[in-house]
Amino acid sequence: KKTIFSGIQPTGVLHLGNYFGAVRRWVELQEQGHNVIFSVVDLHSITLPQDPATLHSQILNMAASLIACGIDPARAVLFQQSRVSEHAQFNWVLGCLTTLARLGHLPQYKEKSASLKEVPLGLYVYPVLQAADILLYRATHVPVGEDQLQHIQLAAHLARVFNNKYGRTFRLPHSMVYDDATGRLRSLRQPTKKMSKSEADPRSRIELTDTPDQILEKLKKAVTDHTSAVYYDPEARPGVSNLMTMHNALTGLSYDEIRAQCEGKDTGQYKLLVADVVIEHLRPIRQELTRLLEDKAHLVGLLDLGAARAKAIAASTWAEVRRKVGLSE
Ligand code: ATP
Ligand code: MG
Repeated sequence: KKTIFSGIQPTGVLHLGNYFGAVRRWVELQEQGHNVIFSVVDLHSITLPQDPATLHSQILNMAASLIACGIDPARAVLFQQSRVSEHAQFNWVLGCLTTLARLGHLPQYKEKSASLKEVPLGLYVYPVLQAADILLYRATHVPVGEDQLQHIQLAAHLARVFNNKYGRTFRLPHSMVYDDATGRLRSLRQPTKKMSKSEADPRSRIELTDTPDQILEKLKKAVTDHTSAVYYDPEARPGVSNLMTMHNALTGLSYDEIRAQCEGKDTGQYKLLVADVVIEHLRPIRQELTRLLEDKAHLVGLLDLGAARAKAIAASTWAEVRRKVGLSE
């Protein structure tokens, strides 16, 4: 039995990239009967500025979205990160075991800090907190999109460093990164960049809460190229290939099968077809999400339960860490 941990930031609304790269896999792992622990990582989300008034509703919205996608709070531990104070505490200990040089090399840090004049310390330390998240639950496997690969490697490195210094405590976590294209769905506006919650232009992504009309509009306007035929070539034709990735991920049709099906269709017509597939797939999820958000008290109750269960595991690991480090007897 694997112990699975993964997290998602409440920086916006869950999008199709998160769904393919992470959440859909989380549900599969839950269905296979593994120990599964999923967190809405709100401490991570404040590494870049968030509006306090919207942040809290985004946290609830994200938790509800995960449940709507199939995460079952009875079988999975589903919780809000900041409710479990051990994450921030353990982050400190792990931060004392790593170096500035190692963190500065990480690609996500480079990407997210590139456009900033002043870089918050939290953004720099982000992967250390992520390692704390993973190790607190002694996770063996971490299902994430491809953009997180180096962060999981850092978590494994920190587990090794801790074990060497203080005696064997942690098993090394492995990433479960899917190396197919769904591990990195691309922006609809700039198909060379990944689809992101925090990208300013909402037309760059399909959000789980989008209405059928919005989905159709976004896909119609998706940036492609001047070739009208539909075929897969992610290097030369990232835009249309990205649409095919969505199509493949939702229907199981191979790229060759899609190409054959689209013989004689141009990319404009193909966009309508993909829109239809996306709309039908998201329809029941959006309905369930709406239903969940109508009963806030119930949702909050589920998160209380999740926080208590997460806290029980995290507190026991933290007690052992304190002993090993010499902070307690
Ligand atoms: P932000 O822009 O705020 O960083 P995000 O869209 O990158 O938001 P995260 O909360 O950082 O989302 O990541 C949640 C999970 O979704 C991670 O496992 C990440 O690897 C995965 N993920 C994020 N973007 C994509 C994408 N475009 N394609 C596939 N997986 C993705
Ligand atoms: Mg991200």
